[in-house]
Amino acid sequence: MSQNRIECDLVVLGLGPGGEHTALLLAGKGLDVVAVDERLVGGECPYFGCVPSKMMIAAAQTVHQARRVADFGGSADVRPDWGPVAARIRDEATDDWDDQVAVDRLLAAGATFVRGRGTITAPREVTVNGTTYVARRGIVLNTGTSPSAPPIQGLAATPYWTNREVVKVTELPASLTVIGGGPIGCELAQVFATFGVQVTVVEVAERIIAVEEPEASDVLTKAFEAQGIEVLSGAKIERVDHGSAGFTVVLDGREVVSEQLLVAAGRRNNLAGIGLENVGLDPEARVLEPDERMRVADGVWAVGDITGKGAFTHVSMYQGDVVVRDVMGENGPWADYRAVARATFTSPEVGSVGLSEAAAREHGIDVRVATGDLGSRGWLAKEEGVVKLVSDRARGVLIGACVVGSTGGEVIGMLATAIHAEVPIATLAEMHFAYPTYYRAVQPVLRDLL
Ligand SMILES: Cc1cc2nc3c(=O)[nH]c(=O)nc-3n(C[C@H](O)[C@H](O)[C@H](O)COP(=O)(O)OP(=O)(O)OC[C@H]3O[C@@H](n4cnc5c(N)ncnc54)[C@H](O)[C@@H]3O)c2cc1C
Repeated sequence: MSQNRIECDLVVLGLGPGGEHTALLLAGKGLDVVAVDERLVGGECPYFGCVPSKMMIAAAQTVHQARRVADFGGSADVRPDWGPVAARIRDEATDDWDDQVAVDRLLAAGATFVRGRGTITAPREVTVNGTTYVARRGIVLNTGTSPSAPPIQGLAATPYWTNREVVKVTELPASLTVIGGGPIGCELAQVFATFGVQVTVVEVAERIIAVEEPEASDVLTKAFEAQGIEVLSGAKIERVDHGSAGFTVVLDGREVVSEQLLVAAGRRNNLAGIGLENVGLDPEARVLEPDERMRVADGVWAVGDITGKGAFTHVSMYQGDVVVRDVMGENGPWADYRAVARATFTSPEVGSVGLSEAAAREHGIDVRVATGDLGSRGWLAKEEGVVKLVSDRARGVLIGACVVGSTGGEVIGMLATAIHAEVPIATLAEMHFAYPTYYRAVQPVLRDLL
């Protein structure tokens, strides 16, 4: 039993991007906020996810572009060096995996920070390190995810990397197998290949980035193959061994041997053992289904990956804004996921928003679809890419889009605006599109939809 009881307005349990954001905003509004994290304030994104991986990608893209100079005008002797990348991640991105700056930011906003593992012990009560925080308004859950590995025979006994280890790499291996060809696996595979590592991607689905449109997978697979990355899709992994030769991934009829192995094949929501049963929730839940105000039980809100609405930093923070409005008694706007934009930062980038064609058809929507290439700008830059738009035929509006190209993650912005604001396709198709931008490639595809 806890000896100490401390009253407050709100406990934020888990400080991923959404929890940290919520705690900062509500403390800034004068609420007595207790912010709890057992690891680092900010969660996966700044220390093990988005930020270090995008720092690697910035380096890889610069190396990649430098290598292309011969195609455009001149020559360069490009000798990639991982040293500056590792140093930047350690010093500029993560402060050597130290969150003091983030802790100070919380304290400056007026929050109380507690480092430790928190558990819900009763309605509106969270216990950490033997102290129970009694939250008058309630609890915000943002416990996020941990890397998880598929149940492959032998894998658990090997010293494989997950995202938590890969961001701390200081010396590159000669070869790397990546199990998992989703966005994270693809981004990291391409980074290492660009730095000269022999990379094989093993994906059990029939195509890499299978969550995106098939056209995106096709373009990316071709780009990977051109770069010397071996892509084994539809793979049946029988076993993983580790020995003096490194890692051996035994597939149906083939063995892939490499110095290192990265497993990027899924995440597990951190919901087990946090006391969900004490607020009437299923303790075995894999995901918490929130209402439009992010409420999951009386006096409990949930934000971030645990809500299953898109495992992205921007979704977590968006949901945090919704919680703040609800706690402060405002009238919305409440959560709406029609126009969740996302980007896979490969070369070329894959930017997407809303529903894929397949997802839209599964929803029973009468869809109309059109595709096109990158137009003049693609030709000028010698780039392959694709624009795919999915519309609701009856309403004459876009409901999904995917843009593959070096600026795919940026071009998708205008399409996210269109879906969010339900701008009629007929209106969009006749706006001005600057020549020769990448986003101009969207116009002929819009016209095809009319
Ligand atoms: C390699 C990689 C690259 C990524 N790149 C991108 C990207 O480019 N763009 C993007 O939008 N997203 C990206 N993501 C996803 C992004 O990192 C997550 O969606 C984001 O961190 C949001 O997670 P979250 O808010 O749910 O919580 P998390 O970031 O998972 O944080 C949860 C926090 O809760 C704490 N916690 C858990 N349980 C307890 C407990 N019981 N008590 C106390 N503390 C607890 C943990 O210590 C952790 O700090 C990437 C992820 C990875 C792994």
